[in-house]
Amino acid sequence: MLLLATSGIVRAGQPLALDTSMTSVPLSQSITYRHDALASDGASEAFQRAQEGQYAPLPDGNPSLGFQEGAYWFHVTVVNRNPEEPRWVLVQEYALSDNLDLYLRYPDGRVVHQSSGDHVPFGTRYIRYRHPNFRIDLPLGQPVELLLRVQSQSSMQVPLVLYTPGAFAELLRDAQFSTGLYYGIVLALLIYNLVLWLMLRDSSYFWYLLHVSAFGLVLFTLNGYGFEYLWPEWPWMADASVPLSICLALIGMQLFSRSFLELQERWPVGNAISLGISAFFGVLAIVSTQVEYHVVTPLASKTVLLGLAWIIVAAIVMLRRGYKPARLFLLAWALFLVGTAMFTLLAFGLVPRNFWTLNGVQIGSAMEMLLLSLALGSRYAGLRVENIRIVQQANEQLERSVIDRTKQLRTTMAQLGEANVQLREYSQRDPLTGVYNRGHFHEAFKQALDARLYDGKPLALLLLDLDHFKQINDTYGHLAGDDCLRHAARCVESVVNARGGLVARFGGEEFVAVLPATDAKAALKVAEAVRQRIQQAPVATRNHSIRMSASIGVHTVDVSRETVPEEVIRIADEALYRAKDDGRNCVRHSVTVA
Ligand code: GH3
Ligand code: MG
Ligand code: MG
Repeated sequence: MLLLATSGIVRAGQPLALDTSMTSVPLSQSITYRHDALASDGASEAFQRAQEGQYAPLPDGNPSLGFQEGAYWFHVTVVNRNPEEPRWVLVQEYALSDNLDLYLRYPDGRVVHQSSGDHVPFGTRYIRYRHPNFRIDLPLGQPVELLLRVQSQSSMQVPLVLYTPGAFAELLRDAQFSTGLYYGIVLALLIYNLVLWLMLRDSSYFWYLLHVSAFGLVLFTLNGYGFEYLWPEWPWMADASVPLSICLALIGMQLFSRSFLELQERWPVGNAISLGISAFFGVLAIVSTQVEYHVVTPLASKTVLLGLAWIIVAAIVMLRRGYKPARLFLLAWALFLVGTAMFTLLAFGLVPRNFWTLNGVQIGSAMEMLLLSLALGSRYAGLRVENIRIVQQANEQLERSVIDRTKQLRTTMAQLGEANVQLREYSQRDPLTGVYNRGHFHEAFKQALDARLYDGKPLALLLLDLDHFKQINDTYGHLAGDDCLRHAARCVESVVNARGGLVARFGGEEFVAVLPATDAKAALKVAEAVRQRIQQAPVATRNHSIRMSASIGVHTVDVSRETVPEEVIRIADEALYRAKDDGRNCVRHSVTVA
């Protein structure tokens, strides 16, 4: 500004010459202004004051004056030195001013008045464009005074630019492209995520939709499209839409973040803060419809930062707690912050004015929305992977427990089998002596008799009775008698088992032995060995040494004859009787053996 002022090209208060090289002329450096606090002046008084030099240049050439009461008057004199451009367009490049009144005074004293702003129906605009604009006729070489009165509830921003019709058309073309691109992205994201929400029914998608549509609405409103397309005949809404859409966007932002970061499940304190902030913005939205615009709007604009700061804090906390989806989420908001910071730095003149800085908010928010959509997708994919992992884990667990149970069952079955075998064994044994009982003997004997027919070998049966056993009992007692029975069983077993035979207790003090593949001769030998073993080994029991003897009857059956067990036993019994009759302690065969 200093440079421009000293160079003498433009100076506020001096007539501004429009030569052939100028097609778009910002007026901030050339214009002067006056604050009409009571908004009491009319156009003629305002022209008068301009002539009297009561107007001042814009401080630092900055057309942003903040929220103000009353009216502001802006004045500049222009001289058109371009014969090819008799008609110009004056554009107020800020969409939200309520009432704009432009007075053009020509050298012949003629004054032309035009009105614009969002308290005047949109249809009355010179060109149907989002920013208020006026038609300026500038006859060649004539100084024309431009006097603009601005009164507005919104912030007093008056960035005025004069365009030739050609330059204005180019401006429209560029604006249309970038606006179309931005809202195209917003719309695509909205439709894409709407479809996802309808299919997946994940509430995060719903809050994302709310956030994106509300934020899109904020920019739509701030850029003047809200008034142009949504409520062109509704000045109240033109004012209220700014704080309302800002509050709605802030609520959407909070609730989306809360849902995305799963604060409810993962961080109850954070969840409460998010809900609190949302409630605050809800109240602010309601208040904004009741009180004057300039009270709530600055507050809402300032709390955007608060809301954003909280989201970033929550995301960092969740990230530190190991919640992975917070990474992309944080990056998205960081990009939004960078874009907004660029735009803000531009306002302070700290970064160059170019496409990226001028559209910082749009670019930042588009990137943010895109990344958030990506983050939603990756979070959903993460949830799916986690679900698959849980199902897999459950399956593995199930498989393991099935294997365990099967193993247990097998062990139990094996134990049961063993018990069964043992039980069978017990049921086959004589409890006193441990040799087989009579029941088992009958079965085994029947089988052995049958087997004899197949293997073609003779079978021998030994029937043994201890001699004078009653006397032993009477002399030494029944317990000693039992010991003697046990001892006799061992003696018989030791001889018979070695020959592959089977020993059973036949009853009382009688034992029976079956000897497969044994002829009469061999059977007699075995019987003799048994008899001798019993006679030779005294029983040591209860301080006594008891001697015993046994009488044995033997019968052998060869292959040639079919026979029944009872018959074989009867014959062996007869042989036993003979042994008893022959004086006991001896062996007798059913037939005389050579
Ligand atoms: P013999 O030489 O004629 O065979 O005379 P014995 O006394 O052995 O004959 P007897 O059949 O008259 O006697 C058998 C005895 O065996 C009678 C009974 O008290 C005894 N006895 C039978 N079963 C058992 C038993 O389980 N335990 C004991 N201690 N004695 C038994
Ligand atoms: Mg007997
Ligand atoms: Mg006896």
